[in-house]
Amino acid sequence: MTNYDVAVIGAGPGGYVTAIRCAQLGLKTICIDKWINTQNKASLGGTCLNVGCIPSKALLDSSHLYEACKEEAASHGIGMTPGKLDVPAMLARKNTIISQMSQGISGLFKKNKVDSLLGSATIVDKNTIEVTTDGNKEIVKAEKIVIATGSVPAQIPGATIEKSIVDNEGALDFEAVPGDLGIIGAGVIGLELGSVWRRLGANVTILEMVADFLPAVDREIAKEALKIFKSQGLDIKLGTKVTDIENDDDYVSVTYEDQSGEDELEFEKLIVAVGRKPLTENLGLETVGVELDDRGYIVVNKQCQTSVDNIYAIGDVTRGPMLAHRASKDGIVVAENIAGKNKSIDYQSIPWVIYTWPEIAWAGATEQELKDKSISYKKGKFPFLANGRAHAMNCAKGMIKILSSEDGTVLGVHIIGPNASELISEGVAAISKKLSYTDIIDEIHAHPTLTEAFHEAALDIENRTIHI
Ligand code: FAD
Ligand code: NAD
Repeated sequence: MTNYDVAVIGAGPGGYVTAIRCAQLGLKTICIDKWINTQNKASLGGTCLNVGCIPSKALLDSSHLYEACKEEAASHGIGMTPGKLDVPAMLARKNTIISQMSQGISGLFKKNKVDSLLGSATIVDKNTIEVTTDGNKEIVKAEKIVIATGSVPAQIPGATIEKSIVDNEGALDFEAVPGDLGIIGAGVIGLELGSVWRRLGANVTILEMVADFLPAVDREIAKEALKIFKSQGLDIKLGTKVTDIENDDDYVSVTYEDQSGEDELEFEKLIVAVGRKPLTENLGLETVGVELDDRGYIVVNKQCQTSVDNIYAIGDVTRGPMLAHRASKDGIVVAENIAGKNKSIDYQSIPWVIYTWPEIAWAGATEQELKDKSISYKKGKFPFLANGRAHAMNCAKGMIKILSSEDGTVLGVHIIGPNASELISEGVAAISKKLSYTDIIDEIHAHPTLTEAFHEAALDIENRTIHI
């Protein structure tokens, strides 16, 4: 048994980043994780690396390339004989990326002298963790404990996860393209994985309970997104209530109600993507007195400290954006506070991205939030239709919108367009550093780039765009 300064439970983007930063700050650190992959091997990286961010983006990129070969190559003057789609090869590429990156985390642990332990952790007292692997138990002692156990998919009645009805994990591993694919939930996972399988040839229907499309997104951007996604062939049914799910051997039948009454659809596969819930099971939280809120999240203060002063919690297991970069930022703050600094968390300028094509990205306040709070604001926007680089990329769709206060401070940036996930960084910098839109006007943006649309959106606040 070794005594540690810090024991981190969970090696997702929250936990492994915490462990590395703690070690960099001179703290003797161990990271415990229980993840075993389908090849029965330990795989560091959590949900994000194993069944989330990275595999979904790998398949988004593969399917985007496939669709571009089919639909766009000819317009570039490239003749393509129809290529055979090899789904197992696509999945193998994705799995190679996962294992390379997971081994990369092991390498980072070695480099930074973080000890790594495979097993399921239970906190038995405020300085003691019992770790179980294959029935063997090991005790870890630590001054500070960081809980970074993440989240698991939420479920709905009647939809037992198996071969035909799947959550994100199964939806990243279909061995062949389903003919008819149903998805429950038009949120981030529904849209991203729906896009993957639609591009590869599935007929995709998404059943969404709420009548508004992407309610957290700026209304103007969400409206544009819905129009584009429908034109791509995603059948998005809003305001539907799923009332029954029957799983036959050959198909899954879903009964739902909407404004026009009751209807039934049959699918070869059904993805359930209705949100995620915090993972706190078997952690021993009741024993040590770590408080949970009414929805099962661990309660923390702005320093990510739980109700037990030497136990911290970060990422998806606590309330807040369920995003990898948020979990990592929490981890850095915790590590630095444990090392005696006084850092706190602020999600004001956190970027959100939906990796459809075009992508959607935003940071800061939406227009409706400003209206609801009676904050007067200025607005500038610019369509990618008037951006040369977007045309060169064959994606002159969407817009960039900047919202500022009356004195010019940037309050929100909203993008639907090519590479929005990269473009949003300029918005994050402006919001977090409280820059004015005039600072964006004063910056020189390279030509020809998509960032010129950023410049033009700022110019639009003063009604002086050049290219429109
Ligand atoms: P996790 O990544 O869930 O890691 C928790 C770890 O704790 C796991 O490895 C688990 O094995 C371990 N663990 C749990 N309990 C125990 C225990 N008792 N003992 C030992 N170990 C334990 N976010 C983005 O920002 N960008 C994206 O593009 C994105 N795409 C996503 C796509 C999908 C399909 C999904 C499902 C999620 C996506 N997310 C994305 C969300 C992102 O994956 C999560 O926000 C992020 O993984 C949370 O990190 P975490 O460290 O809090 O938890
Ligand atoms: P989500 O909250 O984004 O969307 C869930 C959707 O399901 C919502 O629109 C909700 O109204 C709907 N819904 C809930 N119950 C329903 C029901 N019974 N019938 C029909 N619709 C129903 O959740 P998600 O898509 O499952 O993703 C989970 C989390 O993972 C998100 O919080 C997100 O932050 C994270 N994630 C992030 C990314 C990214 O950053 N690009 C990608 C994937 C996942």
